[in-house]
Amino acid sequence: MARAACNHLHLVPSLVHPLKSTLFTNNTLSTTRTRFYDIQRRFSSSKISMSLRAGIVGLPNVGKSTLFNAVVENGKAQAANFPFCTIEPNVGIVAVPDSRLSVLSDLSKSQRSVPASIEFVDIAGLVKGASQGEGLGNKFLSHIREVDSILQVVRCFEDNDIVHVNGKVDPKSDIDVINLELVFSDLDQIEKRIDKLKKGKAKDSQSKLKEEAEKSALEKVQQALMDGKPARSVTLTDFERDAVKHLCLLTMKPIIYVANVAETDLADPADNNFVKDVTNVASELQSRIVTISAQVEAELTELAIEERQEYLQSLGVSESGLGNLIRATYDLLGLRTYFTSGEKETKAWTILAGMTAPQAAGVIHSDFEKGFIRAETVSYDDFVAAGSLAAAREKGVLRSEGKDYVVQEGDVMLFRFNV
Ligand code: GDP
Repeated sequence: MARAACNHLHLVPSLVHPLKSTLFTNNTLSTTRTRFYDIQRRFSSSKISMSLRAGIVGLPNVGKSTLFNAVVENGKAQAANFPFCTIEPNVGIVAVPDSRLSVLSDLSKSQRSVPASIEFVDIAGLVKGASQGEGLGNKFLSHIREVDSILQVVRCFEDNDIVHVNGKVDPKSDIDVINLELVFSDLDQIEKRIDKLKKGKAKDSQSKLKEEAEKSALEKVQQALMDGKPARSVTLTDFERDAVKHLCLLTMKPIIYVANVAETDLADPADNNFVKDVTNVASELQSRIVTISAQVEAELTELAIEERQEYLQSLGVSESGLGNLIRATYDLLGLRTYFTSGEKETKAWTILAGMTAPQAAGVIHSDFEKGFIRAETVSYDDFVAAGSLAAAREKGVLRSEGKDYVVQEGDVMLFRFNV
């Protein structure tokens, strides 16, 4: 599936070959022309296609590649769960850790479980002056346009053997350099667009309204950028926001600051002054911070699974920072998970908060959305308490929901649709 010029978190349906898939008819509904498909059976061999991308950026020598390589190695370890995914050289796929998956999988006696996933993209090459063409310049910036969120790696470790581009470790200055490049790039784009809009090409009143909304939004954003504030901090009406969406402004994207600390600081990162600096900047910019040691993540991937926990404990932490980072990215984007669970597999699906049942079904396959009739739904807790879908049905906690139902976090779902 072709990727749009810039992502707006449109979760695309998996790329599948429906005709090659086996269809399962539910006998209880055989009297009607409607068939009831057990979706996870039907698409168990489908290709997973996620449009959810987080771009790793940062100055040179801050630990981006080390982090990215750890992500890729982790993805390889998960390869059984992503059988048909091709990983581009600069794209790594990671599973979103979710303890509910194994619980459901055990209850349903599933042959396998498939977690939700996120793509991490290594966007190397940002240096001071990129917006003016330095380094990879605008090519680099165009790569950022394609991601849904930005993970800005900030160096918080000292190591005299590893050169810092500005001579010393200074997280605040590093963050400013990167943010300024993003701001310059947005300003440049906005100026060009405003010039174009001045020519006023709209013919009908609807287009004129849209043009005016875009112009007013761009002027507000332009002012904020000139004051050093990101586009995401500007209050816009929904209409205005929609009108500027096509520009894929870089500073409109949500951002997480990834403080890369030395392994000795992992247990108490808050004691590290560099981390304090990052925390302050992040809160000023209404963004989040996740502390990680890229080096440790890289080393973990080289250890046997059973040795990993021991190593983490020796550093005074209980879990790998990658899990935290993945969850933070997931939360930042306002994502929700629902499950399908059966004998063949239990699978976590990613949707946006507020999606209705047909839209959620569409994430599996567009046919499911088009022909949506009803969804049988049970909350995760009720499913676990009942022990199975059949038991949930008997207990009356399996609800039949229509097209307006807003899918809730952790729902276990079975879709009914017409083909
Ligand atoms: P990039 O230019 O941002 O992609 O940086 P790299 O990932 O290539 O890292 C630059 C150097 O810093 C490499 O030699 C890494 O091994 C090292 N490095 C990365 N993270 C850490 C860390 O947490 N601690 C230490 N001491 N070195 C690190």
